[in-house]
Amino acid sequence: MYRTIQTSHKPPRVNGGTGTKNMIKGIPVSPGVGYGRGCFFKNTAPAHSSHASSQPDKQDFSVQDAFSQLVEELTSLAKCAEDVFDQNAAALFRAHRMICEEVQADVLTTINQGNLTAKGAIEKCFDEYYDYFNNLKDDYLSERANDFYELKHLLLNFLNNTEALMNCREYDGCRMGECVLKNEHILITDDLTANIAIRIKSHTKGIIADKCGVNSHAAVIARSLDIPVVSGIKNPLEQFSHHEDILIDGSTGMIIVNPDKTMLKKYGAQINRPYKSFEVIDPVPCFTVFADIDRQQDVQKAVRVKAEGIGLYRTEFEMLGKGRFLGEDEQKTIIENLIRKMAGKPVYIRLLDLGSDKSAPWLEMEDEDNPALGCRGARFLLSRPDLLQTQARAIAAASKSSPVNVIYPMITGVRQFLQLKTIFLEAVSGIDHKDISHGIMFEVPSACLNAGELYEAIDFGRIGSNDLVQYLFAHDRTSDDLNYAQLVNDPATWKMITMVVDAARKSGKPLELCGGMVEIPELIPELINLGITTISTRPENIATVRKAAWIFLNQHKLPGAQSVSYHV
Ligand code: PEP
Ligand code: MG
Repeated sequence: MYRTIQTSHKPPRVNGGTGTKNMIKGIPVSPGVGYGRGCFFKNTAPAHSSHASSQPDKQDFSVQDAFSQLVEELTSLAKCAEDVFDQNAAALFRAHRMICEEVQADVLTTINQGNLTAKGAIEKCFDEYYDYFNNLKDDYLSERANDFYELKHLLLNFLNNTEALMNCREYDGCRMGECVLKNEHILITDDLTANIAIRIKSHTKGIIADKCGVNSHAAVIARSLDIPVVSGIKNPLEQFSHHEDILIDGSTGMIIVNPDKTMLKKYGAQINRPYKSFEVIDPVPCFTVFADIDRQQDVQKAVRVKAEGIGLYRTEFEMLGKGRFLGEDEQKTIIENLIRKMAGKPVYIRLLDLGSDKSAPWLEMEDEDNPALGCRGARFLLSRPDLLQTQARAIAAASKSSPVNVIYPMITGVRQFLQLKTIFLEAVSGIDHKDISHGIMFEVPSACLNAGELYEAIDFGRIGSNDLVQYLFAHDRTSDDLNYAQLVNDPATWKMITMVVDAARKSGKPLELCGGMVEIPELIPELINLGITTISTRPENIATVRKAAWIFLNQHKLPGAQSVSYHV
């Protein structure tokens, strides 16, 4: 007897053969075994719009509430900064908290004068402070103007509740990751987005979703957080009942409802543990493996697995997690930390790649009918040069002691790259910095087709196979469709890659590859044959990639394969 569960792709139902009746097969998205009470969370539309009230009393109340939430957030950020970074970073958040306390009085006075709504009063007061600081002669103080800009947006978010809330179906006031029962739980939700994944807290031991593609940004984050995910379960909120215990195996896609003792024994020590203790394999001669990271603390993992550098730091995720744009000093501190931890090894920082499935309501990004083809990556940066300038200054300031490599995301052609690079260079003129090299992601087919021309302008290239496949085949990378996974090995994908390899070879400049393609060990030999000898992947995958490279190099007696086996 099987439970009748609909899955959104063809659902293989499986008999576990162990006496367990309720087994459902979904799509494995992020490995590991999670076990806990099912918790049902619904992504609710933002509540509206406290600032629209015309009654000053009500406005006062919601403004005070928004200020309290912001002060609370800044206090916890200061605490977190103390633990993770240093006193300077913590002092910055404390200073922000004091600014809020100062501006709150002005905002309330302005509202009570009766001419402006709460939103209008917040904008007026923060903008006045911004202008005042921005016009100061002192460089340090005029930079502080940005603090007012950021705080204004954060406060408006709290006021409008513009961040989507994940609410528990059972308990009022229980928000995702803050289980009122403090249970370890399996989060059950319709659509797992990057914005949700980055906010997962420690009670969450696994996620069941209807939609979450294997190569989606949400999946990338879940894997880096070691949270097992199974997707492809249609209407998951209706399919399970509350108070059921659920075990998910993110490596096989198996979901077991109310597992019996035998089943629990079978999974034993794997339950609610990080997917696997990191396997560490020494670097392979002539084959370089960098680590992709989404959060600065993951640099520890990169060091542990002997990554030969940070190949991709995706700057947007740290911001998506905090729900705000990080200021110049905060970004600088993060990048300095990465450089310090990597101790002379290369560090590649990617400029903000926001848009599409990484939307940032706190930046007032407009809703688009077709966001994957909308204002994303390079196009978004061109529309917000202020954000690019802040990132550029932070990167330059952090690179005072060590060179860094900057990656421009979603580049479509030479003109666009040069426009962005010009903004970058203008922003950093006058800042003392070491070498900064400028490279691009080859992840849009037009860039691959123009690779020859682009290689004349760039210092290095990086193929991003996730988006390349999405845009080459017009196939949504967030979809659960299993065909997507096969497309990385399609002749058309190889043709695109070959074009970029040829251009790189002619120019004599470096080319690396990252994305889902590197998750398939069988493809490593083909990449090496093609001449791609530097790849970048998440730290957990580095040992697998190195094993595949060792085996191939030994079989073919290629340079570097002096050893008959890899070293663990
Ligand atoms: C890619 O597209 O392959 C890539 C590495 O970038 P991201 O996954 O961050 O879009
Ligand atoms: Mg990409």
